[in-house]
Amino acid sequence: MNMSIISLDKEYVAGTYGRFPVELVSGKGSIATDVNGKAYIDLGSGIGVTAFGFGDDKWTEAVTAQLTTLQHTSNLYYTEPCAKLAKLLCDKTGMKKVFFSNSGAEANECAIKVARKYSAEKKGGEYYTIITLVNSFHGRTLTTLAATGQEHFHRLFQPLTPGFVHVPANDCGALEKAVAENKVAGILLECVQGEGGVNPLTPEFLHCAEKLAKEQDIPLMIDEVQTGNGRTGKLYSYMHFGITPDIVSTAKGLGGGLPIGATLMGEKVQNVLGPGDHGSTYGGNPVCCAGALSVIERLDEDFLSAVRRKSGYVFSSLYNAPGIESVTGLGLMIGIKTVKPAKEVVMACMERGVLCLTAKDKVRLLPALNIPIDQLAKAIDVIKAVCAE
Ligand SMILES: *Cc1c(COP(=O)(O)O)cnc(C)c1O
Repeated sequence: MNMSIISLDKEYVAGTYGRFPVELVSGKGSIATDVNGKAYIDLGSGIGVTAFGFGDDKWTEAVTAQLTTLQHTSNLYYTEPCAKLAKLLCDKTGMKKVFFSNSGAEANECAIKVARKYSAEKKGGEYYTIITLVNSFHGRTLTTLAATGQEHFHRLFQPLTPGFVHVPANDCGALEKAVAENKVAGILLECVQGEGGVNPLTPEFLHCAEKLAKEQDIPLMIDEVQTGNGRTGKLYSYMHFGITPDIVSTAKGLGGGLPIGATLMGEKVQNVLGPGDHGSTYGGNPVCCAGALSVIERLDEDFLSAVRRKSGYVFSSLYNAPGIESVTGLGLMIGIKTVKPAKEVVMACMERGVLCLTAKDKVRLLPALNIPIDQLAKAIDVIKAVCAE
């Protein structure tokens, strides 16, 4: 352990993170190496960000080529990677317009602004309430914190942006009631609640939300920040359920390791944003867009079916294994309820060279989508051994 970097960080970096006592210095594919030369199989991918692992050749080539040509222009000028990425995202989803930002929270901020402006223009400014779910996670800005349905994130940061109502997940009656009792501008949902503990919504609930949104002319927003970009074995998780959102926000895996957020707008809201309504200095940065293009281009049906196969392998290996109570999730977004405390399991796995995450009381796995099956199998064996002890 390199105490000097760890103590430097502890002294000078704001203490917002409970970091593991590991200093990572390099990586290739799904193998990360720490400062002491110890190798780890990485099942976290920087919280679902490095979709093709560390130092992926195609991604590195695309990013480097753009970096050494033109690294930034601002949004006063046109650049090729931004325009091409927007077209590719629209072609693959049927959405009509894209706004680029730098993070998941910002992608949700944009979604909320679009929903509020749409409803204000259509129905009146008093239609500003956004319905989200209990146990959801939508980001750390004051508005996306307000959207996040977890009280413990709210304490001490009041007043948050007003106009957010949280209803229990998978309760269609509660959603109908909230829509009837509020002047609603939008409904914002994660198809699989990530930070909330890797809990998939039921198809019935998603269809109920879609139906209500259509009937009442309320924009339906799906937060695909964690679930998007192939993570669940489809390009976007809503595609598992046969629903058509009006707005999709995404980030994390989109850039493959560079900060980029995107808000995709469907037919209903495609013309809501006009000049001056929204903006971002870095948004659509050509280097980030070049990285994202190299990610999204490769998420074809063959690749996604391999993600689903690997998912099937993990679910069947962990099902009913000693020390494991349940396995939830979709694709390569997996939550494991262990008999031992999740944190203890994660620490023991790290000791044995496997990096995992937690979400609430679960061990959470978000491996790189292209993790080789032999590395995945080896890491799952370590998790099983730790849980069985
Ligand atoms: C991570 C996450 C966010 C926030 O993304 P940042 O890039 O950290 O701002 C929002 N929504 C969901 C579902 C997330 O998982």
